[in-house]
Amino acid sequence: MTVLVGGMSLLLAVALAWFGADLSGAAARKARAQIAADAAALAAVAESTPFGGGRPKAIASRYARLNGATLVGCLCPVGATAVQVTVEVEEVTAQARAVFDPNAVMAAGGEGALDPALASAVGQLLDASAGRVTLVSGYRTHAEQENLWAEALARHGDAETADDWVAPPGSSMHERGLAVDLGGDLELAARLIERLDLPLVRPLANEPWHFELAVRV
Ligand SMILES: [Zn+2]
Repeated sequence: MTVLVGGMSLLLAVALAWFGADLSGAAARKARAQIAADAAALAAVAESTPFGGGRPKAIASRYARLNGATLVGCLCPVGATAVQVTVEVEEVTAQARAVFDPNAVMAAGGEGALDPALASAVGQLLDASAGRVTLVSGYRTHAEQENLWAEALARHGDAETADDWVAPPGSSMHERGLAVDLGGDLELAARLIERLDLPLVRPLANEPWHFELAVRV
């Protein structure tokens, strides 16, 4: 399967293994592990490229953790155009490989704006919702992310906890124009995305309002 997310093409090399005797439990853990691996790989390759903040392993670890998994491997040297991550959920492992496609990113809107494909998908979603889904936050400057981070630090007391809710400056997909936060009726949003087949995904298990671009090809 090839997935384009925010201009990155993701080639999934899936190697799954599970050791549980309970099949339904194992299947659920397998699905969770794969979602976490996909999210971690995409975030890591975005972070690794010249458009990222140069901390791919830390970002992969964050996206895995926010999806209930533990990062156990990250072939993700800074500057690489492909990364491979391995995550684990209760002894079930999953791998994902993400490949950076510079041509897709070059076609994007550039500094200070949402990726055009993301903006188009979100626009269609908002129109279809007739006002019941709203855009809360789209593109953010580095300074705006710094302010959000400072607020989260003040609210949660320490960086470890704050990091579960706000990405540290330099590591937010919002700063790259590759994420939006939506408000209003998020269940309606999910149904409309499915019905209209919009290229939007929710990669963070604990942030149901946070959407990123996913174009399946
Ligand atoms: Zn967000």
